[in-house]
Amino acid sequence: MDLAFGYIRRSSYKQQENNSIEIQKAHIKEFANRKKLTVPDEFIYIEDVTSAYSKRADQRKELMRLKATMIESEIPRVIFFEESRMDRTGYTFVKDFYRPLQKELPQLEVYTTNSEEPFNPDNPQTKTALLVFRQESEIKSERALASLTATLENKERIRPGAKVPYGYKQVDGKLIPNEQAEIVSFIYYLQSWGTSMGKIAIILNEAAIPSPNGGVWGASTIETILKNSVYTGTLTWNIKKHRKKRKFEHSGSHEPLIDHFLIHLNKNNLKLQNQFGRLDTPFLFLKKIICSGCNEHLKTQNASTNRNGKKYCYQYYVCKTCAYKLDIHTAHATLLPSILTHVQSLASSEANKTYTVTFLKDMKRITKETIANLEKNIDKLKSKGCIAKEHEDEEFQAVIHSILKDKKSDLESLENSLKALAEIQEAVHSGVFFTRFSQVLEQQLNESEKRLIILYFVELVLVLPDKAPQIVFRKNPFESIDAINNGQSTENDR
Ligand SMILES: [Zn+2]
Repeated sequence: MDLAFGYIRRSSYKQQENNSIEIQKAHIKEFANRKKLTVPDEFIYIEDVTSAYSKRADQRKELMRLKATMIESEIPRVIFFEESRMDRTGYTFVKDFYRPLQKELPQLEVYTTNSEEPFNPDNPQTKTALLVFRQESEIKSERALASLTATLENKERIRPGAKVPYGYKQVDGKLIPNEQAEIVSFIYYLQSWGTSMGKIAIILNEAAIPSPNGGVWGASTIETILKNSVYTGTLTWNIKKHRKKRKFEHSGSHEPLIDHFLIHLNKNNLKLQNQFGRLDTPFLFLKKIICSGCNEHLKTQNASTNRNGKKYCYQYYVCKTCAYKLDIHTAHATLLPSILTHVQSLASSEANKTYTVTFLKDMKRITKETIANLEKNIDKLKSKGCIAKEHEDEEFQAVIHSILKDKKSDLESLENSLKALAEIQEAVHSGVFFTRFSQVLEQQLNESEKRLIILYFVELVLVLPDKAPQIVFRKNPFESIDAINNGQSTENDR
């Protein structure tokens, strides 16, 4: 067992009940035990003066004595009782205690009893935690807060470019759908069923529909259309100023050509693809079939041979453990009809619709709660930022600034999620979503369509030699939806 030091502060008489020396000692020893360290009684330093609480670290006698002993003994480990005991003013602890020690003892491990990981002053969370204790004794500045808020909210308005997007004409400065609008909707529709951009281009070319520039369609033309938010009724423009990129959005300025719902559906498709693999594959049950004997996902096996100029395809799902092999054509012929029957009846079930709407409502409620908490956090951080500013503490200002930036981007994602959930709920409620599946038994489905249906509605398929396969359905197709997803198309991650 390695030796370690301990450090305890007695800050006020009031605290003696809960944080008496004995209790602090016990916590340190218990923590040491877990870490396989030994802290002898005589290795525990006790800072005994209440006023030391607000003192700089280098004015704390016992802390400085501890530092000297650690260097002398070359024992690089010390345990503090909770973070708050460590330092009231945050960075003097780092500057006067941690950094000098680190220089002498590169193996330095400073622990606090409330964290499993060694203290790391370069970790932003640590910096904030220290700051929290700091703020308690300081006064908020309304003036500084107001000025910060003003800076953050200062937005510039720039007019968008004049090029008229495909599917619209411009009348009196307003975008009005033209005769190509339906082609745009069609492109989005195909994408929402997992059709690749290349395939969409082929379909349009086969239908002899001229591309925006009058020629043939290519995947990149399709991509340009699929990435243009103008079709959901939003005008977006990016500006570059002082080497900073900023994005401005203005919605409701013109008639949308597609429902936001399709965008969310496509994001969900992309997520499913990331999780389960390609949509456009003959292996419709890729990562969805499990050998229940071995409790293992079946792998795909694709062997094709040429005999007498004729191509023979051998495609199997295989359990690598017990070597159980399932021919995909047999498997699909057994499984697909019952899945499609299930989905089609689900699509027309009112109970299922109600269930799904309730599920989405619950998700909305949870998201709202998360947003409220995050907003509280951001408010706190902002006021801390102002205090840091007042004290001209640039290091902490920078930390606060970077954490604020992260939190704000989280907030933005969550707000987008909430919007997405509301739009999906509307699509389910109005029937738009489930009518997509109301005739799957009668339709000629291609591979990506079949695969998407499986990914939406089938949790997994259990197989066992000489037994009929067992299909486990999902309770609702949005179980895995989460709109915090930056993907745009199902082709992005190839
Ligand atoms: Zn097996």
